[in-house]
Amino acid sequence: MRISQRRALVGQVTGADLREIEGTLDTGGIDPDTADKFVENVLGTYAMPYGVALNVQVNGRDYVVPMVVEEPSVVAAASNAAKMARAGGGFTAEWDPSVMIAQVQVQDVPDVHVAVRKILEHEREILALADDVLGGVTTRGGGARAVEARVLADDVVVAHLLIDCKEAMGANLVNTAAERVANRVAALAGGRVGLRILSNLCDKRCVRVRCRVPAEALATSDLPGGAVIDAIVQASRFAELDPYRAATHNKGIMNGIDAVVLATGNDWRAVEAGAHAYAARKGRYAPLSIWRRDGDYLVGTLELPLALGTVGGTLRVHRAARLSLALLNVKGSGELAAVAASVGLANNLAGLRALATDGVQRGHMAQHARSVALAAGAAGELVERVARMMVDARDIRLETAKQALASLVAFEMPIQQASSR
Ligand code: NAD
Repeated sequence: MRISQRRALVGQVTGADLREIEGTLDTGGIDPDTADKFVENVLGTYAMPYGVALNVQVNGRDYVVPMVVEEPSVVAAASNAAKMARAGGGFTAEWDPSVMIAQVQVQDVPDVHVAVRKILEHEREILALADDVLGGVTTRGGGARAVEARVLADDVVVAHLLIDCKEAMGANLVNTAAERVANRVAALAGGRVGLRILSNLCDKRCVRVRCRVPAEALATSDLPGGAVIDAIVQASRFAELDPYRAATHNKGIMNGIDAVVLATGNDWRAVEAGAHAYAARKGRYAPLSIWRRDGDYLVGTLELPLALGTVGGTLRVHRAARLSLALLNVKGSGELAAVAASVGLANNLAGLRALATDGVQRGHMAQHARSVALAAGAAGELVERVARMMVDARDIRLETAKQALASLVAFEMPIQQASSR
């Protein structure tokens, strides 16, 4: 399909206004004047490709999932693996309430154990102080929920204030609450206030997704589905045994998650920080997802903290982020996290399947060959043909592309002239 046809179709199936899709995506969603209100010393804006993952089904609902990403194959891989998962009923997901952690560090504490006891004894008072500054969220059913206190050293205590941020990511909300309660917490502990800020290891706000893929959906032209299951399980074990592999395994997951996070105007640095801290929570860096065989099925599970907002942050001002939420039509931040995590698991599946069977090399070579063909001057359908000739010859160079293009043009021209006569 051409871009204009895709936009019309996505408008049709999602109910989004076609003029809004066109107006937003032709400009990228923000102009330099708007960008100037986001950050400092603005010179302009920087565009990225905006695509949609297809075939994504989560808890029985179909989604057209916006992805903003510059890396070739990520959108295709998500769509392809989502189709495999779909053959087994799609993704199932569940998520925690939107509880974020505000940290208040207290230093120079004379007796840390007494400090912890006193902070906990005054939980209700601290929660009420926090709720005082959480206005909008408390009226929407959120607000401060609990206080925890931990000893970090002989003279250092940290109080955790747990806050339900509902549909917001919550960083600013939580920081405001931390500042509000800090003096009181320090006074209770008998120490001095240190930092007051959220933790990006928001492990009270996890999402868990699962898929169950039938063997036949995984088969390749060379390998039966059962062999692919075994290969993927072995690839999963490799990541479980080795942090060097786990880092790359998780990168494959974040390919999908970050693209959705970015498309929906959310803070991908916060998500990345939380994901990797969670991956190392047991003292050793580990994969966020695990793959196992269950009879003739491959079962994948993924769990990670995911603080996403459907209100607040940049959403108010970024037109493309608002469009993404309109296309997704999610009810809230938990559902958004479930979709993002499902796409992450899909990208993970696609990556493992490619690595464990063909090797990703073939796919990457094809993509690289297309770029070289374009650079050699190929256009239209000749791009694909020149690229395929180079892949088949296992020789992907500009010179080879030029020769292939010249031979195709020389061969085709007389045929075209003959047929037009
Ligand atoms: P925000 O400051 O825009 O607060 C959310 C607002 O939405 C509040 O005013 C709230 O009252 C309102 N709201 C309306 N409807 C709501 C609903 N249904 N549920 C919840 N709130 C509702 O945004 P935020 O989410 O507090 O903070 C997110 C921003 O903070 C991001 O842009 C992020 O980049 C940034 N940030 C991140 C960090 C970090 O991760 N370490 C630190 C500082 C700031």
